[in-house]
Amino acid sequence: MIRNNNNYKEMLKNLNNKFGKVNAVLANEYIKVYPETAEEHRDMQKFCREEKIEFYVIRPLSERPFKIVMKGLHRETDIEEIKSELAIALPEIEILKVGQLKNVRTKSPMDIFMIELKKNGHENKIFELTHFMFLKIKIQNYRKPPGATQCWNCNMFNHSSANCGFQTRCLKCGEDHRTNQCPITTPQENPKCINCGATGHIASWRGCPLFPKIKPTKGQGVNYPKAQREFLASQYRRQENISYSMQTQKLIPRQVELNSRQESEFNPQTGSREIGHEKEFLGFLEGAKVMYDTLKSIPNLIKTISELPMLEKTEDMFNHLIKALGTVANSVSNVQ
Ligand SMILES: [Zn+2]
Ligand SMILES: [Zn+2]
Ligand SMILES: [Zn+2]
Repeated sequence: MIRNNNNYKEMLKNLNNKFGKVNAVLANEYIKVYPETAEEHRDMQKFCREEKIEFYVIRPLSERPFKIVMKGLHRETDIEEIKSELAIALPEIEILKVGQLKNVRTKSPMDIFMIELKKNGHENKIFELTHFMFLKIKIQNYRKPPGATQCWNCNMFNHSSANCGFQTRCLKCGEDHRTNQCPITTPQENPKCINCGATGHIASWRGCPLFPKIKPTKGQGVNYPKAQREFLASQYRRQENISYSMQTQKLIPRQVELNSRQESEFNPQTGSREIGHEKEFLGFLEGAKVMYDTLKSIPNLIKTISELPMLEKTEDMFNHLIKALGTVANSVSNVQ
C-alpha cells in the first residue's frame, strides 16, 4: 500500500523503472501494489524506504503470525521464562513473541498472556497443552479487540508498526519520533491532533473525525465491547439456569399447536375428536408442569418419586410417598 500522494505518478514510474511492469491498483487514498514474489516484495520495501516512498505492507494470511492466548499462569510470570519453557515443552513450534495483556482501564497486567507463533505447520500443537509451568492452563484463539488498529509508528490506521513504512510521527507533538520517546511527558492542556489538525484532542481519541468507526464484520455479527460481551454471556448463562419446566412451558405448547394443526389438516373427519384429545393432553401437560414445579421446590421429593417403581406393592408406594411428604411438611413448617 503506497500513499496516494500528488506525486503518485512519479512514484509508480520509479517503481516500474526498477521492477519492470508493476501491478498497481487505486484504493482510495492508497495505491495497492502487488509484488510477484516474496523477494520482489522485500526489494520493493527496501527501494521505497530509500526513495522515501511512504507505504505499509499487507501481509498474506499465511505470513501473519498465529496468535493465541494462554490463561491460567500467574500474572507475575516472567515472559522470557514462558518463552524458554514453551520451547522445551513443544520443540516443534516457533515462538515469535510473548506478551501480557493489560486491563484497558487500570493498565494492570492480567493473568492472560498472548503468544505469537510462526505458521510452520505445527502451530496448532499449542492447543495440546493443558498444563504448563506446573499449572493447569487454557489455550484459546486470540481475537483482536474490536475497533481500528492504530499504528504506533505513524499513528495512522489499519496497519501495525511492524508493517509500517511511513514517516514516524509522535502522537503528542507530530515530530519524527515514537510517542514513547517524546520529550513532552506531562499532559498537554490543548493538544493538537496530528491526523485531523483540530485542537483539543489527540489522534488516538475515538471521537476524532478521522478515527475509523467500528463496522460489524461480515458474517460474524457485531463485535461487542468486552464489558458488553461479558454482560451478554451472563445473560446466556442465566438462560441456561432457567428450570426445565419453564423451558418446556415455552416449548411444548408450541409443539402441540404445530402437531394439532398438522393432524387436523390430515384428518378432517376425526378433527374434533383429535382436538379434544389434544386439549386433554395440553391439560395433562399443564398439570405435569404444576406438579413438576411443586416437586422441584421440595427437596428430596423427586428422588422419592423416582424410587417408587422399585417398590412392588401400591400400598408400599403410598407409604413411601406419605413418609416423604411428612418430612416435607415438617421442613415447610420449619421455614415458615
Ligand atoms: Zn504506520
Ligand atoms: Zn513528540
Ligand atoms: Zn483528530
